[in-house]
Amino acid sequence: MKNNKFNTTAIREGYQATNEQEHSEAIFLTSSFKFDSAEQAAARFAKEEPGNIYARFTNPTVDAFERKLAALEGADGCVATSSGMAAIFATIMALVKSGDHIVASRNMFGTSIVLLNTIISKFDIGVSYVDLSDLSQWKSAVASNTKLFLLETPSNPLGEVVDIVALSEISRANDILLAVDNAILSPALQTPIKLGADIVIHSATKYIDGQGRCLAGAVLGNTNIIEQISAFTRATGPSLSAFNAWIVLKGLDTLSLRMEAHSKNALKVATWLKNQPQVEKVYYLGLESHPHHQLAKKQQSGFGGIVSFEVAGGQAAAFKLINATEIFSITANLGDTKSTITHPATTTHSRLSDEEKVNANIADGLIRLSIGLEDADDLIADIDKGLSV
Ligand SMILES: *Cc1c(COP(=O)(O)O)cnc(C)c1O
Repeated sequence: MKNNKFNTTAIREGYQATNEQEHSEAIFLTSSFKFDSAEQAAARFAKEEPGNIYARFTNPTVDAFERKLAALEGADGCVATSSGMAAIFATIMALVKSGDHIVASRNMFGTSIVLLNTIISKFDIGVSYVDLSDLSQWKSAVASNTKLFLLETPSNPLGEVVDIVALSEISRANDILLAVDNAILSPALQTPIKLGADIVIHSATKYIDGQGRCLAGAVLGNTNIIEQISAFTRATGPSLSAFNAWIVLKGLDTLSLRMEAHSKNALKVATWLKNQPQVEKVYYLGLESHPHHQLAKKQQSGFGGIVSFEVAGGQAAAFKLINATEIFSITANLGDTKSTITHPATTTHSRLSDEEKVNANIADGLIRLSIGLEDADDLIADIDKGLSV
């Protein structure tokens, strides 16, 4: 089914019905699998015969999710994990060793930075941080022991973008693996491997589930990379449960429809915000005024659901607005049918010093929206209430 387009692949790829001929994918809630004979058990363990052994290694529901996501990202293979952080940790631990060096973008997801600074740093692995979109910084951060470039594009909350094709030329020339966390756009809007990345990482908790129901993650890449990641997860155990695999598997069916609707809603909200006198700045990649709009247009097929804006009056005005909304959920989560609102300076970015916040443009009046699938007019009216109080 390799030549089908996105939606056909998202709905049809990856699952083979059992003898029961179930039409919807079954959930295999089993920790282990039986063998027909002692000989078959021996053959499975010797890897002479393919097949399931134990759910920490493989499970048919998890396999179906992995095959479908690999087809959508244009990857040879996929290892599903219990969360996005498990996917990032597995990638680093499987591919980087003590004495190696990682270059990472400064504005990655907060816990990714915490992981690098507090856990990875214990293994004598060096980390240098660079500004995501500045290719010269990536280039000059390369050392003889650099093994991995790790980044998210676009960044959250401000939507900075790096040119993946150009960065992959730098990584390739230096024998470095390029890993892109694609959680903010999903394969419906961006496929980094097709642009030259070696690895795609997902928090499927976000848009792939899309309905705020479970944690899940994934790592995608070529066969050699996937074998190494898979060996790591088999031995350490952050495997995705069959039940959660079923949720994200069904999430993929509607992914591109949802991403299109998120993007359309977000553009409406961002365009409206831009015309409000109390709003000093709007950060949305779909607006032509965003400095990375053209680059995003080139490498993405849509702009996604994250909209950030700065209100006049700093933290007090931002808190007032957040508290006045009734539809938006006050939560730092994103990628849900339900719209969410958060104040980055005191939540997701509170670990930054005042100076780091200024450098990163995380102003006191900055508010981040994850635009859901409610009606845009209602969301706009909800924000307007907060602006007028
Ligand atoms: C949420 C998120 C993660 C972490 O994923 P979990 O599923 O919460 O572990 C990693 N990267 C990005 C970009 C995220 O938004």
